[in-house]
Amino acid sequence: MRHLYVNGSWTPSTSGEVVNVINPATEEIIDRVPAGTRGDVEAAVAAAHAAFPLWSRMAPAERAKILADTADLIRERAEQIATVIATDLGAPYPVALKTHTLMPAGVLESYAQMAGKPAEESRAGTALILREPVGVVAAITPWNYPLHQAVCKVAPALAAGCTVVLKPSELAPLAAYALADALHDAGLPRGVFNLVSGRGPVVGEALAAHPLVDMVSFTGSTRAGRRVAALAAETVKRVALELGGKSANLILPDADLEKAVNVGVAHAYANSGQTCSAWTRMLVQWDQYDDAVALAVAAARKYTVGDPFAEGTRLGPLISAAQRDRVIRYLNLGQEEGARLVTGSTDYPLERGYYVEPAVFAGVAPGMAIEQEEIFGPVLSIVPFGSVDEAVEIANGTPYGLSGAVWAESEERAVSVARRLRTGQVSINGGRFTPAAPFGGYKQSGIGRELGEQGLEEFLEIKALLL
Ligand code: NAD
Repeated sequence: MRHLYVNGSWTPSTSGEVVNVINPATEEIIDRVPAGTRGDVEAAVAAAHAAFPLWSRMAPAERAKILADTADLIRERAEQIATVIATDLGAPYPVALKTHTLMPAGVLESYAQMAGKPAEESRAGTALILREPVGVVAAITPWNYPLHQAVCKVAPALAAGCTVVLKPSELAPLAAYALADALHDAGLPRGVFNLVSGRGPVVGEALAAHPLVDMVSFTGSTRAGRRVAALAAETVKRVALELGGKSANLILPDADLEKAVNVGVAHAYANSGQTCSAWTRMLVQWDQYDDAVALAVAAARKYTVGDPFAEGTRLGPLISAAQRDRVIRYLNLGQEEGARLVTGSTDYPLERGYYVEPAVFAGVAPGMAIEQEEIFGPVLSIVPFGSVDEAVEIANGTPYGLSGAVWAESEERAVSVARRLRTGQVSINGGRFTPAAPFGGYKQSGIGRELGEQGLEEFLEIKALLL
């Protein structure tokens, strides 16, 4: 049984109630974390509030050293942390190691470097403009990239001089405990970082509403994000939201079709499709449509479903039985809407574990539910288009705007189409994700940006000294 991390020590919850942590590959309970209470939130916020004067005024180099040491500790413990993530999230072990553990260590390192520089000061007219930490930050994170999502908030917040209360998802909370251990062992002063596990409607809502929390940074579903923003509005907190997506992979007729389809399938299925920025809609011109479908089916069939620790596994289980059944509902719904399920199945592929076969829908029309709604599983929809204008309209035609891709023979042409997309990030001819670039959403995909320098600016207030 775990405890909460409050004011620099592991502390029992006031509730005594627990949340069971389940291995989605075996359906077995593997751990228990406290179901935090409003009282626990009070204690954690009070600790973060009390620690703010010290941390916010600490020399940048000292803050930077603690963050750099935390990154080193995560790298040293990488195999152990990856095992935890492969077990509670179900990510294939090599992915758990590289993407889920070493990538966030790199993000921490990048913010350690930024933390070392004093906050920028500038002049405007006769005024001196200062940038100062916003205060106490509540960070509420989802389960799909459990360490990365936490680091994307905690690292820039701490680098900016803020103090933090983190509430990880109840579904895969164990990586957050590894982060707390590393911060503690790196010598973070007490109260600067606090961890309260538990359920969203209790712990998350108490944080979003708390008058001593200055900012809430939330990643998760649009539904919960709306609730958090509404609660935060009562005390006029700053709100950052990283929400859902339905990103388009737009393949122009002169692109390298085979490469665009193969990379596109890999993006759609990353983390078993449980990725907010997944390219879940592949847009292909009519002339190439049948070829693209055939290529996508061949690629999809190479995604072996299985035990996260077994060699050759490319798709682990989904996070929960509810998530698996939701994906299967969409597989049925897509067929009822008239789309063709060209590979994939509504049957469970394995007897045990929350697995789903990778699926491809052809004949998908704009406006179908499988084309509009975030499914969060390994399901790719291939949508035909006629003209480039029509493709842009389809790409922009959902309530989301988080990520996407454009492929063309020339970079220039791809960039000119990418400029027309209402979305926060666009990969050009397979350009890779980099943690140096800001990440975040247009429209209902969110408010604000994470990662890169912009990710740090989110946690700064601006003060003008009129000289
Ligand atoms: P979720 O909204 O159910 O939960 C996210 C977090 O919010 C959890 O910690 C949960 O306990 C908490 N929460 C739930 N209800 C709450 C409430 N009423 N008040 C306060 N907190 C509450 O989402 P999830 O199922 O954990 O994650 C999947 C979703 O996250 C997907 O929609 C996905 O697109 C999105 N996501 C977005 C990004 C991004 O950067 N844009 C990244 C990853 C995931």
